[in-house]
Amino acid sequence: MKTLLTPLPPVQPDPEAAMQERGGWLAWLVFHSLVLWHWVSWRHVCAWCQPMRRTSGNPLAWQTTHGCCDACLERLEREATATNSTTVKKP
Ligand SMILES: [Zn+2]
Repeated sequence: MKTLLTPLPPVQPDPEAAMQERGGWLAWLVFHSLVLWHWVSWRHVCAWCQPMRRTSGNPLAWQTTHGCCDACLERLEREATATNSTTVKKP
């Protein structure tokens, strides 16, 4: 019986696809290196907690950035709606 399928031509390595694959791998490496470097060097603390509480990041990081933790955000929202004010005093 004669088959209608013709054998596929041998797959040639596509230099452009290979370059893109290498570029994707490099982008992945750069992205994850940056994420890791950010985590290692930065500590996120809540500026509203006394004493300031770490919310995320490396506890031994040498750089600190300030934010607001969930508990403080909830408290601030509660105070703001209770007083119907957009400014809340920091404790
Ligand atoms: Zn807080």
